[in-house]
Amino acid sequence: MRAERQLSPRGSSANVANWGFMKNTRIALIGAGIAGLTAALALQRRGFRPVVYEQAPQLGEVGAGLTASPNSTHGLEDIGLGPGLARLACKPDRAGALHYRTGEVLVDQERGEAALRQYGAYYYQIHRADLHNLQVDAVRANDPAAIRLNHAFAGFRQIGDEVEVSFANGAKATADVVIGCDGIKSEVRAALWGRLPARFTGNVAFRGLVPIERMPPGFKLTPMSGAAVGNKHSMARYLVRDGTLINFAAFAEKSGWENESWSMRCELSELLAEFHDWHESFRVFLSATPPENCFKWALFDRDPLPQWTKGRASLLGDAAHPMLPFLGMGAAMGIEDGVILGRCFEAASTVDEALKRYEAARRERTTMVLLASRAAQDRLQGNKADGYNKETHKNEEAMGLFGYNPRIVPV
Ligand SMILES: Cc1cc2nc3c(=O)[nH]c(=O)nc-3n(C[C@H](O)[C@H](O)[C@H](O)COP(=O)(O)OP(=O)(O)OC[C@H]3O[C@@H](n4cnc5c(N)ncnc54)[C@H](O)[C@@H]3O)c2cc1C
Repeated sequence: MRAERQLSPRGSSANVANWGFMKNTRIALIGAGIAGLTAALALQRRGFRPVVYEQAPQLGEVGAGLTASPNSTHGLEDIGLGPGLARLACKPDRAGALHYRTGEVLVDQERGEAALRQYGAYYYQIHRADLHNLQVDAVRANDPAAIRLNHAFAGFRQIGDEVEVSFANGAKATADVVIGCDGIKSEVRAALWGRLPARFTGNVAFRGLVPIERMPPGFKLTPMSGAAVGNKHSMARYLVRDGTLINFAAFAEKSGWENESWSMRCELSELLAEFHDWHESFRVFLSATPPENCFKWALFDRDPLPQWTKGRASLLGDAAHPMLPFLGMGAAMGIEDGVILGRCFEAASTVDEALKRYEAARRERTTMVLLASRAAQDRLQGNKADGYNKETHKNEEAMGLFGYNPRIVPV
């Protein structure tokens, strides 16, 4: 990177000359979640050698499902995970909105081949651990030393064009740029911009994975992917892992309990009491949730940041735009960020230019999605099931979010 400063300013020949130097840029990614590993792969595939520092002593993802909408699938295809997705993810033929009490399908939409025809990519649903494993294997196949475990970010200093990062284990690393991909409670974000105030939304989320063999014979999810609206309660449910597991995320207005951790177990009786007046087609799988597979956490809302980058440090994924889960778009935004970051580093002739291009390409879209996720909370958690229809179903597809392709948007 030191050589980079000696180069002539922009211009097509300078860009060609700088290309080789940029590839030596020392890029430190903090956090090996879905967003950080997408960034790592997008950079690796463009000739960079990023290092990912992860706090955990072992890699893993929570037991839950994830929707990869077409915008996200384009990103995952860019980083070489297309074949893995096709092998491990479910491809629902239809999606829709359901009435919580009657189970009636209020809105029905085509997915499957229709998504491919319309957006050029499939709409997939996958176990988060399956996606994360694909990412970890691919990053390590490119560079076995790329992921450093047991490295919890503790702070950093920017000295000239370098960043010195310190970790809780006492280690230090020097890089040309540091990107915080350390999730919703990001320490890198706190170091850059202070701690973001988080407001309890008054809603608690429950999640679980239910083995399909626990269901009565002939049980079917119709449509395969569905979001149900109710009275201050809502739920998304779909199949993952070759249709062998039902994944659900259920939301309830509830006060007096405000723990944001994703790994807090919950009693099945509490879940069933919350959804006591829901239709049997939901209660049948809720009540079959293995007790060790039932979790809950409180939902907190944070405002969008007006800026991500300061000097040689920036943010990506939930660290940059911690959003509520009501559009199911958080990981998709992190995947888009990762691909765009890789493309910006490839296109730029300096680190500063790469970070500028990255933030310019990403902040507006992710701010819009963060605010829309907040608004979707009201749409799904209101008391509107009886009047719910195609016109009021302003979901992520209706907002045009699927039409974005991180592989080709201008950067
Ligand atoms: C109920 C629910 C359903 C959802 N459904 C969907 C969906 O269907 N589709 C979708 O696109 N999104 C969905 N999301 C959102 C999505 O899960 C998140 O946006 C996504 O996982 C964020 O990825 P990330 O890599 O930015 O953060 P994380 O997954 O939180 O990863 C951060 C990583 O950083 C590490 N880390 C943290 N602190 C430090 C530190 N100090 N030093 C080093 N490492 C650190 C962590 O250990 C972790 O590995 C959902 C979210 C919820 C809550």
